[in-house]
Amino acid sequence: MSARLLAARPVRSGRALVVGAGIAGLLAARVLADRFREVEILEQDPLPTGPRQRPGVPQGHHVHGLTARGAEVMERLFPGLRDELTDAGAPGGDFGEIVAFRFPTCWSPRARTGIPLQTFSRPLLETRLRDRVRSLRNVRVRAGVRITGLIGDPGLVTGVRTRGERRVGADAHERHRIPDVLAADLVVDASGRNSRLPDWLTELGLPAVTSTVIDAHVGYASRLYAAPEPHTPPWAAAMEIVQAPRVGRGFMATRVEGDRLLVTLQGSGGDHPPHDPDGFTAFAESLRTPLADLLTHLAPLSAVRPYAPTPTAPTGAPTTTGCRRGPTG
Ligand SMILES: Cc1cc2nc3c(=O)[nH]c(=O)nc-3n(C[C@H](O)[C@H](O)[C@H](O)COP(=O)(O)OP(=O)(O)OC[C@H]3O[C@@H](n4cnc5c(N)ncnc54)[C@H](O)[C@@H]3O)c2cc1C
Repeated sequence: MSARLLAARPVRSGRALVVGAGIAGLLAARVLADRFREVEILEQDPLPTGPRQRPGVPQGHHVHGLTARGAEVMERLFPGLRDELTDAGAPGGDFGEIVAFRFPTCWSPRARTGIPLQTFSRPLLETRLRDRVRSLRNVRVRAGVRITGLIGDPGLVTGVRTRGERRVGADAHERHRIPDVLAADLVVDASGRNSRLPDWLTELGLPAVTSTVIDAHVGYASRLYAAPEPHTPPWAAAMEIVQAPRVGRGFMATRVEGDRLLVTLQGSGGDHPPHDPDGFTAFAESLRTPLADLLTHLAPLSAVRPYAPTPTAPTGAPTTTGCRRGPTG
């Protein structure tokens, strides 16, 4: 449904289903709540009550930045969100003053930009958005429900197929028995990068989607540290920018709520940061920024978490893997 059609809908009629309670799913549900009588979010994971990691969002262990425009849109949809994040301990300030960028040639100058920035963990943002969405009268969040396909025909999607597991997870809000099929006037797929939507559309009788997968051979490893005074860095975020193939290694680090520092090391061209603590430290020592010196003063709070995305493509869809390893490709 286009934005124009959505805006033209009679207010608060019909039922919308959103697949996935990640950031996109929560924001979609908030917008749809103004237009649909009933909005239901269907999430495969059991959902925790607080800011905790969960299996459906493995990227949650790594540094995330919310840029100014995204923050502005979220604040408009959820007034007071910025203050909530600040109250939860998220550092903030002027982008140009609290972010330190190291480019291959030099550090960027620090200068006031008038652009506000906050830094926090992804689980904190998701939890706050989820609590806000849960408080909407016409939105229901159902956890532990995996969507396995669509119902309808090539011209019209009329609902989803489910696999309800009646799981009670870390703190699932409710037990529920899920029907095999849920009908809807609108289905929004917000199930992230591993979405099976292309397969589901093919199962409805539509032609297979052609995809091109370009694997940048980038890998990450992240670790969370305690960073109380006097070891709190003088920035809220710092990064050493990767410019492959010349500069293949870098990092991103953000101070997050609870006086903690989240460090994500990044390697390109298959030169991925190791997943063991000693290898992680050695990789940090190989950077041009004295990040490793800072880390010697900080107590680790987590294991090293890897992330090496592998290309995904819909099953059966023709795939081209394109990757240029150097100037001559
Ligand atoms: C290391 C790393 C760093 C990143 N840094 C940034 C950054 O700084 N800023 C930024 O904006 N983005 C960043 N991204 C990208 C960002 O994480 C993703 O774009 C974003 O999380 C996508 O959000 P989403 O809500 O679309 O999907 P997701 O967050 O992946 O959520 C999808 C949800 O759908 C659920 N789901 C999946 N399949 C089903 C199913 N069949 N049935 C029911 N539920 C299902 C999952 O459990 C999950 O809850 C980063 C990514 C990585 C890997």
